[in-house]
Amino acid sequence: MPLIVQKYGGSSVADVEKIKSVARRIKRTAKKGNKVVVVVSAPGDTTDRFLSSAYEITAHPPEREVDMLLATGEQISISLLTMALHSLGCPAISFTGPQVRILTDTAHTKARILSIDTERIKKELKKGKVVVVAGFQGISREEDITTLGRGGSDTTAVALATSLKADSCEIYTDVEGIYTADPRMVLSAKRLKRISYDEMLELSSLGAKVMQLRSVELAKRYNVKLHVRPSFSNKEGTMIVKKGLEAPEICGVTYDKNQAKITIQSVPDRPGIAAAIFSEIAKKNINVDMIIQSASLKGLTDVSFTIAGADLGKALPAIKEIAKRIKAKGVASSKEVAKVSIVGVGMGSHPGVAARMFSCLAKEGINIEMISTSEIKISCVIGEKEVKRAVRSLHKEFGLGRS
Ligand code: ASP
Ligand code: MG
Repeated sequence: MPLIVQKYGGSSVADVEKIKSVARRIKRTAKKGNKVVVVVSAPGDTTDRFLSSAYEITAHPPEREVDMLLATGEQISISLLTMALHSLGCPAISFTGPQVRILTDTAHTKARILSIDTERIKKELKKGKVVVVAGFQGISREEDITTLGRGGSDTTAVALATSLKADSCEIYTDVEGIYTADPRMVLSAKRLKRISYDEMLELSSLGAKVMQLRSVELAKRYNVKLHVRPSFSNKEGTMIVKKGLEAPEICGVTYDKNQAKITIQSVPDRPGIAAAIFSEIAKKNINVDMIIQSASLKGLTDVSFTIAGADLGKALPAIKEIAKRIKAKGVASSKEVAKVSIVGVGMGSHPGVAARMFSCLAKEGINIEMISTSEIKISCVIGEKEVKRAVRSLHKEFGLGRS
């Protein structure tokens, strides 16, 4: 009997009617003779609301308690959805992450999954039940509830699909699939039928909010075919697989407004300084994205880098301290920056893609503050206010829209 893992995002279980409709879809899947494991997110904006309550109480909520709070959101969804399945006459049982031993490390609010004990799930599947698992959460080696980072239910779904050797992993969401650009920003954006893991990885890490980055990494590592589908219709969505269909020069334009740029000014230019700066930041568990060091003038250079905008508050004190220690002149930071990127595995075989991107931005009068490239993407940091114009003109420049 085929085993299917289905994941439903928060918007698909935002209210009772939506929960009932998800339950009907699950029942149909089970009726067709499949074993079904379902992963759900917290309803609607529950996680955001919980977080704002936490920050109303304190500017620095302890991360262990944040996890304790956030994990309750998914528990609302699993219980209500399981009740809905029961009332349709579809046998089902719900489990929290800790109940199915989704074991993680102790990095609260961004924990990594170490292992999953699938025994209990398998036992219930054998009894003919649909198993509904809370996404985004696990239990640490120290027996504390952990969460897997925003959007972490995707990772729970892929991890379960791998551990259970599922035949397919379907990600149900409130969009019709993966697009050439954010369809709310670019009206002519097209749905992609297939996309490779590598392209999807760049798109998620560059800010396309459809799937959590780690879930795609995991899917790539274990070769789990992902099927991103709308939960509100029967449209076919997008397959995320090893290789896309063809390799056009670029497959999408994406942006990320959650960026902050930090510059440490007049840093003494000698060996070990970059190591000192970035080990300090790593110690705070903060991811650095782009890094630029200016040419050395009189033995001094400026070091600029970008981090997630949300990390700025946590990063600044540490960076100011290290700046003092290495005798730099000062620290400047800005949250009014964003990153726009073009992505495509075909880039390598089409020369001149970078030049076209820069000329397109230049024609729009948009200043590029930082640039980074990889084999399959080019990213530019620009002013946050210019994002919409940049994305639209790049989408047009590379002929991505519907004709
Ligand atoms: N509820 C969590 C979040 O909002 C996890 C998820 O939706 O995947 O980030
Ligand atoms: Mg999500």
